[in-house]
Amino acid sequence: MGRSGSQTLSRRALFSGKHGAPIRPPWTSETSILDACIGCGDCVAACPEDILFNGPANTPVVSFENGECTFCEACAKACKESVFDLDQPAWTIQAVISDSCILQSGISCRLCTDNCEVEALVFDLSQRPVGAVFVDQDLCNGCGACVAACTFSAISIMEPQRD
Ligand code: SF4
Ligand code: SF4
Ligand code: SF4
Repeated sequence: MGRSGSQTLSRRALFSGKHGAPIRPPWTSETSILDACIGCGDCVAACPEDILFNGPANTPVVSFENGECTFCEACAKACKESVFDLDQPAWTIQAVISDSCILQSGISCRLCTDNCEVEALVFDLSQRPVGAVFVDQDLCNGCGACVAACTFSAISIMEPQRD
């Protein structure tokens, strides 16, 4: 089960969203957190995957460095305030692959594709010499499972650029 929420992470881990903004829990927004979160830490303690942490003013932030979101809703159900809205999509963030992907250096790797349950990481063998990985934006749900899988830190979860 989740832990106390007193755990701390590096600044990089906590502020890895778009433009360095923190990634907030599913079914929340920066606005709903600023408006309604009282910093009680109940959602952080409730997360069975231990991906929620206390961020600025004790408000919850997500880090995928050690785990993924299973969309279990435990965080939303633990919150007694009006921060979470389960009637909305969980979030719009998705995986983005950077130039650090070692395929771009001609070295074979499939660590991330094997970890994506919904098969949103598409391996394109036609790219020379060792292929390339692309994110299928119609499939990626932003769960973050691929982040820890990539030992080269080439994957971030953020608001993607739409094609
Ligand atoms: S939905 Fe579940 S796994 Fe995802 S952040 Fe909330 S408690 Fe954690
Ligand atoms: S695990 Fe990382 S380095 Fe390997 S293919 Fe995926 S993104 Fe590239
Ligand atoms: S964030 Fe989840 S769904 Fe998206 S590519 Fe990574 S593992 Fe697949």
